[in-house]
Amino acid sequence: MYRTEKLVYLEALISRLKVDDEEFSSYQQAYYRSQAGLAGELKMQRTLADYHFPGPYKIFYNFECINEKGFSHQIDALIITTRFLLVVEVKQISGTLFYKPAFHEFARQTEEGVIENFKNPFDQAYRHQLYISYLLSKWGISLPVLYIVINANIRTKLDSSLNGYPIIHLSGLPNFLEKLYETNGESTVNLMDLERKLVSISRRLPYSKNVERDRLRNGVLCQNCDFHHVMYYHHGLWICPHCGVKSKEAIFLALHQYRLLIGDRITNRELRKFVGIDCKAVTSKLLKRLKFEQFGKGRGVYHLIPEDILERKNE
Ligand SMILES: [Zn+2]
Repeated sequence: MYRTEKLVYLEALISRLKVDDEEFSSYQQAYYRSQAGLAGELKMQRTLADYHFPGPYKIFYNFECINEKGFSHQIDALIITTRFLLVVEVKQISGTLFYKPAFHEFARQTEEGVIENFKNPFDQAYRHQLYISYLLSKWGISLPVLYIVINANIRTKLDSSLNGYPIIHLSGLPNFLEKLYETNGESTVNLMDLERKLVSISRRLPYSKNVERDRLRNGVLCQNCDFHHVMYYHHGLWICPHCGVKSKEAIFLALHQYRLLIGDRITNRELRKFVGIDCKAVTSKLLKRLKFEQFGKGRGVYHLIPEDILERKNE
């Protein structure tokens, strides 16, 4: 699930980025948005899991692919049935949502009265619809492709300027699907075949931003203190000078963040700088205990931080 990957990345980034970094608050906002987005998607998954589809169907959540022009598509949900294919764009925006169709302008007003523009979800979903329609015709499959924008926050108010546009509250999704079943006739589409074709073009798009190394804080950071404090190493334990927490495992999370934000290769020297240990022998011992795969020779020796570093701590 790409959202989760993005969330994990942004979480690592905001806990490592220097607080005075000029992009700090924008990444923090992106993190909160991403968190809200994930919450919205999970709510939709529950609603769809509860819905009884009258015929065969398949749902792809977070369907991602790259089109022939090299641009990416990230579709929150793609529902395929033998009667229609539905592109679902999920939003979890609070406040009141407004639309100025002539300008394709989508905005929200917060409870405090602040008006902000948002990416127009209709244009986003329409772009996906166009591409999926193009693919189906290329594959010789005849099936109506539709889209809907789902608002997953029950407290959000949809202004009457949105009347007649394809946006509904999540609770209306089952009813919306029922109507699609009524208005679209049965086709001869082989769902398994369509599913296979979609799987073959889907791919996970990695989420990362190239943030320069010197914008990131060093140190094994205390999770208990929301990563505000740097822990020190003493007799095999990482200790937080602020809250006093002692942990053998804190280094795993630090290296996980290093892997996400900087890279999966680390040398003894980089590790010393990153975790704040001056002594080379201590770091060597630490590396030995971590059992990372080692590559290169002499001064070029580096260690590979494994993808499952966080699971390793229990070993
Ligand atoms: Zn602490």
